[in-house]
Amino acid sequence: MYHIMKLIQIKGSVYPDGAIMKMAEYFVKFRGLQSVLHKIHHRNIRMVCYHMVKDVSTSYYPPNITTDVFREQIRYLKNNYEIISVKEALERIKQGDKLHRALSITTDDGFAEDYSVTAPILAEEKVTATFFVTSNCLDNKQLMWRNKVMHIQNKLEPAKLYSMMNRLAREFRLAAPAGTKDLLTWSYFDWSMQHKEMLSDRLWEMAGLEPISEWLTENRPYLTVGQIKELQHNGFHIGAHTKTHPFCDRLSYAELKEEVLGSIDHLSSTLQSNIDVLAYPFGARPTHEMEQRLIREHADKISGLFGLQYSISNKRNPYAWDRDTMPANYNQSVLKLSVMGIKRKLLKTIGMLHAVFFVANIV
Ligand SMILES: [Zn+2]
Repeated sequence: MYHIMKLIQIKGSVYPDGAIMKMAEYFVKFRGLQSVLHKIHHRNIRMVCYHMVKDVSTSYYPPNITTDVFREQIRYLKNNYEIISVKEALERIKQGDKLHRALSITTDDGFAEDYSVTAPILAEEKVTATFFVTSNCLDNKQLMWRNKVMHIQNKLEPAKLYSMMNRLAREFRLAAPAGTKDLLTWSYFDWSMQHKEMLSDRLWEMAGLEPISEWLTENRPYLTVGQIKELQHNGFHIGAHTKTHPFCDRLSYAELKEEVLGSIDHLSSTLQSNIDVLAYPFGARPTHEMEQRLIREHADKISGLFGLQYSISNKRNPYAWDRDTMPANYNQSVLKLSVMGIKRKLLKTIGMLHAVFFVANIV
C-alpha cells in the first residue's frame, strides 16, 4: 500500500496516460461543466505547483512544461480563480477571509528558469507566484541529488546504468534494483535519505561524467541570490524547499528540524527578508507528531507548511495546505483542476469506509 501511495504521489496518477489524455481531450470542451465544478468544489484556497517551464528539455529535470502550455494554463487559471501569492493568502486567512476561489501559483526547486522564463510570462499575464527554493542549491553551490540521478539516467545506456546500479547496491548493501525499476524509482524507494548525497555522488563518479563542480559552472541550473532579490523586487514571493530536498517523512526529528529551519534561516539571512513558508519536497509530510512538534517549537519562524496532492480541502490551517502538481498537457490540467475536488471527496469517503470496515474487522 505504501508503494502504491508513493507511486501516485510521484507519478501523479495510476491511470494509463493514453486514457487520461482521451478523457481530457473530451472534457475540455465542456466549459460550463468545468465552471460548475470549480464553483462547487473549490471553496478554499487552491495551490498549483510547477517545476520547470522551458521549451527544450534538460537532462536533469524532465519533463518540463512548454511556455505555450504554461501561458495557456495561466490564462485558464486567471479566468477561473482569483490569483494571489501565498503571502497574501496567509495575511487574508488571518483576517478571517475564507479565500473562496483564490489560487496561488507556486514553483519548486529554485531552477534558473523561474527567473528567465516563468516570472517574465507571469509578469506579462499580470499575476504573481511563490517560488520555493532548495537552499543548498542557491547560487549553484550544489547539484540536488534528484537532478544528479535524472542526469545520470538520461546520459547512460540502460545496460550500463543497470550494471552500475547493481554495483552500487552491492557496495552499499542496498536492496537490489528489480528488473523493471529505473534509477529514479530505485533511488526514491531504496535509498536512505541519510546517504542520498553519497550514493548519487558515487554513481556520478562510476558514470565517468565530468566533475559536478564543472558541470554546475557550465549549466548553472539554479537561481542566484541576485536573481531572487530581483524577483522579490518585482513582487514575487519566496519560500523554502528544505536544504537538500529529502523525503521529509523519512527523517528523524533532528534531521527534519535542520532541513526545515536550516533552509528558512539560510534564505532569510541571505535575502534579508522574512522567509516563513516551506513546501515539502515530493509533498512528503513528516508524521503528524513530528510536524506538530515542529510547529509548536518554531511557530515564530514557520507560518505555512505545504504538501502535495492529498489534502481533501485547504481550509483554515496553513500548516495543512496542499498543492496540485500541474500536468505538462493543457487538456489534462483542465481535467485535473476540475475533477480533483470530487476525486478527493470520493477518496475521503472510501478512506472513511475502509477505516470503519477495518476497525470492525470485516476486511
Ligand atoms: Zn522539489
